[in-house]
Amino acid sequence: MNRHPTLPKGEAIAENQHNAAELAPTPDSARRRPVSVEVGAPFWTTGKFKSISAENDLGLENVGAFLLRRLLPGIVEATPQAGYYTFYTYLLAKHEERSESASRADLIPFFRRQELAYAIACRLHTHRVGALVGIQGSSGARRAIRENEETIDLSAYVDNYIDARLGGYGLFYARMLEAVRLTKPGAYQMADRATDRGRNLALAFARTFEQTRYYREFFEADVVPIEVLRDLGDHVCLCTIPGRSDHEVLLDVFVGDAGQELAWESLRQRRIKSFSIHLT
Ligand SMILES: [Zn+2]
Repeated sequence: MNRHPTLPKGEAIAENQHNAAELAPTPDSARRRPVSVEVGAPFWTTGKFKSISAENDLGLENVGAFLLRRLLPGIVEATPQAGYYTFYTYLLAKHEERSESASRADLIPFFRRQELAYAIACRLHTHRVGALVGIQGSSGARRAIRENEETIDLSAYVDNYIDARLGGYGLFYARMLEAVRLTKPGAYQMADRATDRGRNLALAFARTFEQTRYYREFFEADVVPIEVLRDLGDHVCLCTIPGRSDHEVLLDVFVGDAGQELAWESLRQRRIKSFSIHLT
């Protein structure tokens, strides 16, 4: 836009540079070169925005995510594996059983140590499916495997294998587990708790998990032999469902036992209808 059609071109540009700096001051504007604009062209955006690449320019991904949450309440859509529903519920129930503290801060070290060991175990496993997606903390686990030969000192990786303090649970699963009534949210700064339904699932998982050498000898150890973690993966990797001891209970969590409360039952009905579309 030419706001000074009578000014010579050079003067208009100079004034526009001055106006542009006033209109959009930035912390580092003093270090920037003046914005060059041309008379007859809008100057207030020219040079103001950097060109960036994006795969979701119109925000349509959020629309899709919203629809999936409506159609599949309580289901993490990013992976076909359901193993973390069990594993995270088990960790919450186990910590509650072993600890006198219900604070989230006291849960975190236990949780991260176990999630890291599980991620390594899953990465070491020869999966029944071609490619396994959805291992939480996968890149940190890969680094731990790459940098060690016979044993892994988990304490060297537990602080940085994933950024989120409660790992994949905090990032993706917490609200999903709550939506299928495996957990109930903790009060401010308190840990989430497994419900009776969640503890039932955790018990079914424990029948396999607590038979492993990892659980019996290395559950709290810093240094764990890689063979022990490999054996853990053989027993409880994400891909060991279907067929694992918690499989049937997990199915009930998603689609079984009709709920008495209308709100929970409507979510269950919606999951069943959405799943059935894939089966027809
Ligand atoms: Zn596997």
